[in-house]
Amino acid sequence: MTTLIRNGTVVSATGSSRQDVLIDGETIVALLAPGSTALGVDLAATAERVIDATGKYVIPGGVDGHTHMEMPFGGTKASDTFETGTRAAAWGGTTTIVDFVVQAQGQRVMDTLAAWHDKAAGQCAIDYGFHQIIGDVDEESLKAMDALIDEGVTSFKLFMAYPGVFLSDDGQILRAMQGAAGNGGLIMMHAENGSAIDVLVQQALARGETAPYYHGVTRPWQTEQEATHRAVMLADITGAPLYVVHVSAKQALARIAEARNAGQNVFGETCPQYLYLSLEENLGAPGFEGAKWVCSTPLRSRAEGHQDELWKFIRTGDVTSVSTDHCPFCMKDQKEMGLGNFAKIPNGIGSVEHRIDLLYQGVVDGRISLERWVDVCCTTPARMFGLYGRKGVIAPGADADIVVYDPAGHTSIGLGKTHHMNMDYSAWEGYEIDGHVDTVLSRGRVVVDGGAYLGQAGHGRFVKRGLSQNLI
Ligand SMILES: [Zn+2]
Ligand SMILES: [Zn+2]
Repeated sequence: MTTLIRNGTVVSATGSSRQDVLIDGETIVALLAPGSTALGVDLAATAERVIDATGKYVIPGGVDGHTHMEMPFGGTKASDTFETGTRAAAWGGTTTIVDFVVQAQGQRVMDTLAAWHDKAAGQCAIDYGFHQIIGDVDEESLKAMDALIDEGVTSFKLFMAYPGVFLSDDGQILRAMQGAAGNGGLIMMHAENGSAIDVLVQQALARGETAPYYHGVTRPWQTEQEATHRAVMLADITGAPLYVVHVSAKQALARIAEARNAGQNVFGETCPQYLYLSLEENLGAPGFEGAKWVCSTPLRSRAEGHQDELWKFIRTGDVTSVSTDHCPFCMKDQKEMGLGNFAKIPNGIGSVEHRIDLLYQGVVDGRISLERWVDVCCTTPARMFGLYGRKGVIAPGADADIVVYDPAGHTSIGLGKTHHMNMDYSAWEGYEIDGHVDTVLSRGRVVVDGGAYLGQAGHGRFVKRGLSQNLI
């Protein structure tokens, strides 16, 4: 089947121009001047399907490099399955996710990878890849890191938080980094000083400070900056590339920028919640409502200016990609586990559906350029995680993962409006976006069009990733 997307403005990470996009089956085969007959035919008349993108942006499908579908956490699990979560992603213009396989202490890495393949296979609406969480750095997991590269799982997440669950000590981190430096893999780091945080949490609870607000107060920015610094220094010793996930403190990003300026392979990721939401307005909401926004790293104080500073770091390129850290939990029976004790609230926010829209609002508001929007949402995540060429770009030979985005459209976020994630609330209730995801193609198949969902569980395939294409 041939498809022509005509009369739109193709936006890439480096520029924008009017081009027609020709798709054959699952693959983009040509970019042409609008109306071009250079191929010897009038494509608008001969293509089997024609999508009119007049007045609209034509962008690569979004690549969300950080999601947690069905992730086990504290006796429950994230409320989106691979089926519901990837469907919601498609609604929002994301056509690839990279989800995290979890190895907890005492589990064998390759067993956990097999389990995640079982969970995702046949369920996904869009393509997906995996990162591997290494919760237990030992001989077996170090050996598995080499095997994972061959399996197309080329990045390994370590934790400096959650002692007794996922935390790796500095020696373990060093050994894993040496492994990545040797096999070409990427180290992803959850950078918070978990031992210090656990003491602050216990002291707060002992004082009767049990509301969700104290989740933020007990994870101060110093614990994030300190851990980020330590990770940067350990990476420097080993030569491993380091990607710091979900950075929310401006001081941590400043440390990442400093390492980058020194020529180190260090990268920072942030998420929409850290750009828009805050300790005061969200975690500090009355009663138990703040539980909706409990995630780690936590939302930061607006009075301290983190949000504006994070937008700045997107402009300067020190934020490499914006992902969601999509890890949804319902209020009922899940977030409610932490009534009377914020430490028992499952950590996570659901955003996989809204990332492209929320970042586009940054373009409308004059915070980032149109090209930077595509860069941090689509292109650089693809390069960072070894997907580029197939994903993250509109070019001949690439998978036909494409979003037609209407800058004259409008999106109202919230329950009963735009909300396809399996959650009983929206962390983004009331947000209004000056743009709209009109049409979404996943490998040439129209999965969303004109407000209708046309996708199918099982269309999405596992993507074996190569090594990072974004290293210096
Ligand atoms: Zn994390
Ligand atoms: Zn995460």
